[in-house]
Amino acid sequence: MTRPEISAEFVEKYNTAGPRYTSYPTVPAWKQKFGETEYREALTELSGRPDDELAIYLHVPFCAKACHYCGCNMLVTREQGEVGRYLDRLEQEVERVTGLIGTGRRVVQLHWGGGTPNYLKNDEIERVLNMFGNAFDIAPDAEVSLEVDPRIASADQVGFLRESGFNRISLGVQDFEKSVQENIGRMQSREKTLAIYQACRDAGFPGVNLDLVYGLPGQTAESFRETLHGVIDLAPDRVACFSYAHVPWVRPNQEVIDTTIMAKGYDKFQLFRLTVDSFQERDYTWIGIDHFARKDDELSVALEKRALHRNFMGYATRPAPHMLAFGMSGIGDVCDRFVQNDATYDGWSQKVDAGDLPIVKGHRLSSDDKLRRRAILNIMCNLELPWELTRAAYGKPADELFADSLKALPPLIQDGLVTRDDFGLRITDKGRYFVRNVAMILDAYLGDPTDKPIFSKTV
Ligand code: SF4
Repeated sequence: MTRPEISAEFVEKYNTAGPRYTSYPTVPAWKQKFGETEYREALTELSGRPDDELAIYLHVPFCAKACHYCGCNMLVTREQGEVGRYLDRLEQEVERVTGLIGTGRRVVQLHWGGGTPNYLKNDEIERVLNMFGNAFDIAPDAEVSLEVDPRIASADQVGFLRESGFNRISLGVQDFEKSVQENIGRMQSREKTLAIYQACRDAGFPGVNLDLVYGLPGQTAESFRETLHGVIDLAPDRVACFSYAHVPWVRPNQEVIDTTIMAKGYDKFQLFRLTVDSFQERDYTWIGIDHFARKDDELSVALEKRALHRNFMGYATRPAPHMLAFGMSGIGDVCDRFVQNDATYDGWSQKVDAGDLPIVKGHRLSSDDKLRRRAILNIMCNLELPWELTRAAYGKPADELFADSLKALPPLIQDGLVTRDDFGLRITDKGRYFVRNVAMILDAYLGDPTDKPIFSKTV
């Protein structure tokens, strides 16, 4: 990949609000009347497709203390009894879903996100694994992954997780620099992070990921270079480097963030360029918008074969046609319906206690949604839109089906973000930094004037 010149004016031009496309249509576009009845219908339909494999997302909301920059649905509690009550309700939620789809369905991906999944004690983790093990048939080669906060982890806990069947672990790092950690209210010594990373390796985890965030208050090119090099020296299998999304109108906890010391616009973009340069110099593959993987990692191999996928959990190599979500705020994808559980702890709990499936919203995908989802996710993952991608399912090539949307393409071609030929669209080396902007031309839901400013900036 060549290193394109990108000016401050150019970044300014394309730094607009836009979705990250873990799904299409994105959550703010779900405006249909969709409740428990509709979700029950989806699950009943799923029961009629017994051979379809499943992915599962479990949300563990607990954290010991809130970080200022946090954008997750989480609950601060120091009362461990709360966890037991959450797991009791989780058990009811799982029973309610398996009551409709049957037990023993094959699961090929199981991911625990948060919050802080390792806030749970070993016996609680075991309880949840047994809960899923009894309700589903977890494939022997399933990816079983979780997010871990190194600050509260121990070598013993990591060893227990590996022995319990987890095979991929993501450690939250964000930034090694102390002053940045102070600014975001998350003190985490480098020694502790390195000790837990080493414990993951000693425990034999086949996949160890590290998570970073760029654009945090106080981050400078010098300080972030130091973090990047420190991380790359560890040789993790994958690194996700997320853009800090400052959205205090959605996340009031971010109001304490000092935005005057936060890199914005071109300066923030430079932090990301530094990230890309640092990983590419050390032979990592740039995956999608913000992931980096070792050349021998499954994600790199999938990208090479143009077989990368994206779902609500991020980039994936073994996609399942359906995803069940459990726990507060979980987002699922069942028989072409998206569903989201209540994102508040009390709301989710009350719905479960009332005997309901705890969902608050959903969206039944139309045939146009499915077509656009296919195209947008292909651009986000494999950086291209072959015209032939749609022929088998829709009988026509994509350039014909998207003729209207593609009228917005010429300026992007002129600016060197994308090329168009008989094969289809291809994202250029320059376009790699603006993939979301290219995908947005196919989004039929953008531009609704009643939308609140929900999305973060694309840069
Ligand atoms: S950033 Fe992570 S650890 Fe911090 S409050 Fe949010 S979910 Fe918890």
